[in-house]
Amino acid sequence: MSHNEIALFVFTPFCKIKCTYCDFNAYAHLSRWMVPYTDAVIQEIRRSAACPERSRRVIGGRWSNVRSIYLGGGTPSLLPIECLEKILRACQSLISNLQSPSIEITIEANPGTADEDKLRALRALGVNRLSIGAQVFDDATLRRLNRGHTVADTLETYACARRVGFDNINLDLIYGLPFQTLDDLRTTLERALVLAPEHFSLYALKVEEGTGLAHQIARGKYPPPDDELMATMYETAEEMLDAAGYAQYEISNWARGEQRLEIRDSQSPIPNLQSPISNLQSQHNLTYWRNEPYLGFGAGAHSYLDGERFWNVASPLEYIQRIERGESVVAGRETISRELEMAETLLLGLRLNVGVAFADFYARFGEDARARYAQQFEQARALGLLEVTDERVRLTRRGRLLSNQVFWRLLP
Ligand code: SF4
Repeated sequence: MSHNEIALFVFTPFCKIKCTYCDFNAYAHLSRWMVPYTDAVIQEIRRSAACPERSRRVIGGRWSNVRSIYLGGGTPSLLPIECLEKILRACQSLISNLQSPSIEITIEANPGTADEDKLRALRALGVNRLSIGAQVFDDATLRRLNRGHTVADTLETYACARRVGFDNINLDLIYGLPFQTLDDLRTTLERALVLAPEHFSLYALKVEEGTGLAHQIARGKYPPPDDELMATMYETAEEMLDAAGYAQYEISNWARGEQRLEIRDSQSPIPNLQSPISNLQSQHNLTYWRNEPYLGFGAGAHSYLDGERFWNVASPLEYIQRIERGESVVAGRETISRELEMAETLLLGLRLNVGVAFADFYARFGEDARARYAQQFEQARALGLLEVTDERVRLTRRGRLLSNQVFWRLLP
């Protein structure tokens, strides 16, 4: 991706019910705000495309080089199809390279929130990637998480998606739950693999302060997560996904159909990395991991553009009201220094299995990362967390498990 390309993200804060582990800016019982929220988002999108500050990427009032559109949340699939259509058409009408077959358009869907008709309509609107929040394939665990859907719902949503022609489907899975055994995870993976999606995201549970799950753990209802078990679960998932033909390309993400890359713990030569990257990898999320520009729309959405990060007010109601009053929805801004941009480019890039190529880093910053981070690289390499060759730096298998120990060393 070139630095002139841009990714668009639209956030929707609506959920059917609140999951016990979730601290996202997402709310149940707000469906009466769906229509005004949709109108507000569309206005924000239009304002952004008309903004002279964005002129480098806006030609004739339209973005000239969009890489991806991502409708995330929350549960965007809960929105009525009329709202989703308005949002997608608003984005698409402001993109001049819309005909490019490589634009990835993703929507997140929770099982049971999009029936066959809605999925067919989304496909017809150009959505070409579906991300289904399956989480686990076990009804008792889904109930404990207050997910609001069953395994049967997951299977039904998946089957509908295939029937209407989605050929790029991600399944979101979670591991490390206090009431999840290694066998539970194995069963979830086995059942998920039978479906043969194109992509898997597998996220470790993080117990966030203030969530229902955090209270349950504090009250002793469940034990806190066990780090050792989590590491074993992660390694088990790596092995099962690898054996099933999925190539890991990021700490938490696997895609089908690309060249396998062996992570070696020694300084052995790295295989040829010039072969085509699978287009089944999440093109939108690659933008984040490559520290490339993106624009976020909606309550609490973040943007990163031209050396600045800025974010919107989190409250959906305040967001709507500000738009209606014609005010800015930006709640904060942060100028990203060159030093911070370099560090973030490295630590985000290290999340990828290919790591960061020194030539790419030099082309972007005019600096040799090996010289600048020599000490940090050496420390992490000595701990077996990093592999450094003449061409690139990347995490070892052990480094993927202990990535934070590498990342904090790199931050200014
Ligand atoms: S569906 Fe997702 S965003 Fe909504 S409450 Fe559950 S975890 Fe949070």
